[in-house]
Amino acid sequence: MRVMLVDDSKTMRRIQLNQLNGLGITDIIEAEDGHDALLKLSANMPVDYMFLDWNMPLMNGYDCLVTIRKDKQYSGVKVIMCTSESEKSRVLEALKAGANNYIVKPFDDKAIKEKLGL
Ligand SMILES: [Mg+2]
Repeated sequence: MRVMLVDDSKTMRRIQLNQLNGLGITDIIEAEDGHDALLKLSANMPVDYMFLDWNMPLMNGYDCLVTIRKDKQYSGVKVIMCTSESEKSRVLEALKAGANNYIVKPFDDKAIKEKLGL
């Protein structure tokens, strides 16, 4: 399983990376904003899951999601929007735009397993 972690916070990416490693997932690509994610996605397909932060510079998670869903070559990428508790109301917007699921930060192992179907 190949996972892409997209978050502008290096600390957050480190935490998520360690959690995924702990669950046996080691094929992980990191990106620091939506634009970086699009570049790395095209270079690293197939990607199975993308954890996509919402608030990021250059291109936010929502715009990145919309761009990904316009491109048929990425139809197999399952996008999990990462929200803070206060952003939960925006989840519906993301699901309408083609997100497969969402997860509230900070993640816990149980939530990650559930979202990845482990
Ligand atoms: Mg952010």
